[in-house]
Amino acid sequence: CVVAGMMVGKRVRNRRRWRRVVKVLEEFEEGSATPVEKLRQVVDAMAVEMHAGLASEGGSKLKMLLTFVQNLPNGSEKGIYYGLDLGGTNFRVLRVQLGGRRSAILGHDVQRQPIPEHLMTSTSEELFDFIAASLQDFVEKEGNGSEILQSKIRDLGFTFSFPVKQTSVASGILIKWTKGFSIPDMAGKDVSGCLNQAMARRGLDMRVTVLINDTVGTLALGHYHDEDTVAAVIIGTGTNACYLERSDAIIKCQGLLTTSGGMVVNMEWGNFWSSHLPRTSYDIELDSESPNPNDQGFEKMISGMYLGDIVRRVILKMSQESDVFGLASPKLSTPFILRTPLIAAMHEDDSPDLREVARILREILEIGNVPLKVRKLVVKVCDVVTRRAARLAAAGIVGILKKIGRDGSGGIASGKIWGGSQGKMKRTVVVVEGALYTSYTVFREYLNDAITDILGEDISSQVVLKVMEDGSGIGAALLAASYSASSQDTLQ
Ligand code: BGC
Ligand code: MG
Repeated sequence: CVVAGMMVGKRVRNRRRWRRVVKVLEEFEEGSATPVEKLRQVVDAMAVEMHAGLASEGGSKLKMLLTFVQNLPNGSEKGIYYGLDLGGTNFRVLRVQLGGRRSAILGHDVQRQPIPEHLMTSTSEELFDFIAASLQDFVEKEGNGSEILQSKIRDLGFTFSFPVKQTSVASGILIKWTKGFSIPDMAGKDVSGCLNQAMARRGLDMRVTVLINDTVGTLALGHYHDEDTVAAVIIGTGTNACYLERSDAIIKCQGLLTTSGGMVVNMEWGNFWSSHLPRTSYDIELDSESPNPNDQGFEKMISGMYLGDIVRRVILKMSQESDVFGLASPKLSTPFILRTPLIAAMHEDDSPDLREVARILREILEIGNVPLKVRKLVVKVCDVVTRRAARLAAAGIVGILKKIGRDGSGGIASGKIWGGSQGKMKRTVVVVEGALYTSYTVFREYLNDAITDILGEDISSQVVLKVMEDGSGIGAALLAASYSASSQDTLQ
């Protein structure tokens, strides 16, 4: 009888602690909910903030930065150009050979390497010396006497994926660091100047022909292949978007723009903020403990640098509420230990006993012997975080479409946007780069589905999301070509 009583007691305790854990999940799920009405509010807020950011300097948390890119590659580019892509987890140097006919990229070589972590927080001289050395190494491998050997100085497109206040298409000043980079002495310095000097120190005959954001490179490659491309989105370590805007809509620099055509605007949407965003206590804590509190709010809910850490925080809370994860593991309190690729691996674990989830919990978080039902809970947390991120990114994309009159709501639509007499919306292409979209299937599906949810089948059938792998690097070389040839074509 005593034994039976003890067993009942244990069962009751078990049930109670399980209920506490489920409650943590339910509250988190509720706080993260993104019903379509909420997404539409985010769409509207995005469009409103875009207007505000274009109206005046500092008019919105969306900086809506001018890029001075008014010519996108059109296929006539010819020759050999270089691209350099810095700003995420990896660093890439590439050479692109262009054949002068649309879509005739004859070939490209890439050299990819992780950025040594200490360089992300060192000095600008150290960082740029490292980059220049890699460039030199790459160029030297071309060999002498080859067709590549050229008499003219090499044109380089430099993709620098941070907010930059451009002073021309080839130069600009860093506004702030994001994504864990922090090199204080870069503040106020010209980014291209730093690289040009480092290359000169090594006697490298290259010059920065264009300095661009990764979104802009991606848009350039997208447009090279398909002229219906209107916007580019990155969802990788960080997140951002750029799009083609009409010059007369960029009110803050009226009179400054020389052409009547358009310009690519770098939104820096990672810093977007709206009270409609479904924010939880975990987001608030992540933000306040981050190196850039009150900054990059949208990015912290969407991009690869942060998703894993939101999941970790929820699991930590669950482990504090009960002992379903065994004794407290110190790893669970270590920020950024759970990287987003691990979240994807757990989320996409299709083994019946969730073997991959068990392995990651054991090897990364040092939590062993987790029963299946608790593993399922972990998968659910990954799902909630990923779904919210993907759906918010989708709302951001529709916000852009709304701003440029491609969301099917008509009104502003001119004949240019609404093709033909049927009043059917013109085909609209948005190119996307970044591992979350390109390599995380569930994320991509959630994002695509949310676009359809918001726009409806009819309109969304005219919106094409295309993966543009290596866009930021190849696009930089393409733009170096456009601007080297000083082709005068303006955007249509
Ligand atoms: C940066 C953007 C960049 C994005 C994607 C953000 O953190 O501020 O400039 O485009 O990451 O790499
Ligand atoms: Mg990148």
